[in-house]
Amino acid sequence: MTSLPFVPPPPRHIHRSLERDRHILRQLPGGGRISLPRGEIVSIDLNGEPEADDGTVVNFTTPNPPKEGMRFDSGFEFSEFCHRYAYNEGFEMFVSSDEIKKEYKDKGVSKKGIGELEAKAHMMQRIRLKCKKGGVKKSEGSNVTGCKVFVYGSFKNGEFIVVNCHLVHNHPLSPECSRMMVNYRSIDEATFDRIMINERGGVSVSRNFGTQLIEKGGFDNITFNKRDVRNAIAVERRKTMFEEGDAASLEKYFKSQRELNSDFYSSIQRDEDGILKNAFWSDARSRGTCKYFGDVISFDTTFSSNRYRMPFAPFVGVNHHGKSVVFAAALISHEDTETFVWVFEEWLKCMGKPPKGILTDQDKAIGKAISLVFPGVPHRLCLWHMLQNASRNLGKLAEWKSIDTLIRTAVHDMLDPEEFDEAWCLVMDTYNQRKGWMLDAYDNRQQWAPAYNRGRFWAGMSSTQRSEGMNRYFKT
Ligand SMILES: [Zn+2]
Repeated sequence: MTSLPFVPPPPRHIHRSLERDRHILRQLPGGGRISLPRGEIVSIDLNGEPEADDGTVVNFTTPNPPKEGMRFDSGFEFSEFCHRYAYNEGFEMFVSSDEIKKEYKDKGVSKKGIGELEAKAHMMQRIRLKCKKGGVKKSEGSNVTGCKVFVYGSFKNGEFIVVNCHLVHNHPLSPECSRMMVNYRSIDEATFDRIMINERGGVSVSRNFGTQLIEKGGFDNITFNKRDVRNAIAVERRKTMFEEGDAASLEKYFKSQRELNSDFYSSIQRDEDGILKNAFWSDARSRGTCKYFGDVISFDTTFSSNRYRMPFAPFVGVNHHGKSVVFAAALISHEDTETFVWVFEEWLKCMGKPPKGILTDQDKAIGKAISLVFPGVPHRLCLWHMLQNASRNLGKLAEWKSIDTLIRTAVHDMLDPEEFDEAWCLVMDTYNQRKGWMLDAYDNRQQWAPAYNRGRFWAGMSSTQRSEGMNRYFKT
């Protein structure tokens, strides 16, 4: 059994958001059909006399059953028609089999596709819809009855035609229950908005549902159940993960930390819409540690955080035991100069002084921000990232193993700049790499090669093991 990602026809009211981008052909009781113009927003009350926006009255009070030879623009209109019929009759249909048109298949469209490659009803060559009570009873709890009702349609000569159908059910139908059937349950936009307002106000799901129940005048008038409300809230929560909700929860967390210790430092930057943009924080202990060991810091934006789906950028240093310590951390929405300027300015406000040296992963935007906020502070690139980049850029070469060994020798064993230059140039010339990554790395070697920084305050910070250790620390 396959299922099409079709949009179930909303009950009673076809919501205005159901905007059609194609021609919609509707079967009229007399057998004729009307065509609504492209892009029309259709609003139809299934229980009343529906009216198209252009004023054409489409009589739907007696829903037509599907009939052999009925024609539609595409599988989309065919499906909509069948589901609407099922809704009126009081049963549900599902797609028991379908086939994507060749033209779409050739483009890579599939049932598992995403976005434009996701199979939709209008891309179908043929569709078979069956009554949900069809099928063989497999378990005691199952309520299938082996119903044989189906509608089969196929695309031919530019039209989607009902090829055959069987409409006699072997079970009673209950039109009055349609609105609570899985296919047709829905929450209209206005109700959804009210539910979300209550939710933000801290109203429980039960209470929230109860409120809607009262507003609508009881169970007979609602088209959703408590579980739908819970699901809708969960989906919305995920959507707004790092929008207002997150800024608020972060702010709450920061406030509680400040209450515990007034030395907790935090700052949040929001955009015009109040959505979390950047955050920076440091607790009292980290700030204290920074006073002693914060001369050289490493700032790395390559850690991403699952919780916030924003790059998590820690400021890391090394304490007197040679262990990595985190001085402060930032969540950033963009990796641009403006963002890094904000982060470094927060560092200044929090720590009271700039570091004496800063190591980062390779990034021009960070370099620019450093020169703006920490003028004169030496900026170096993290050796660990340099070596990572080496393997990313050269790893596919047949001679990679030898190149890797020679690069590491140049980096770790060459004690002064001359030795380093000689060793690096030898690799470039031997392997015809006086170009691309190797040449770029050579051009800014002063920013990362240990040979150029011996005897300075970088001791301990640039060793490969340290960085690898830090990486493990943040990735778990
Ligand atoms: Zn049936």
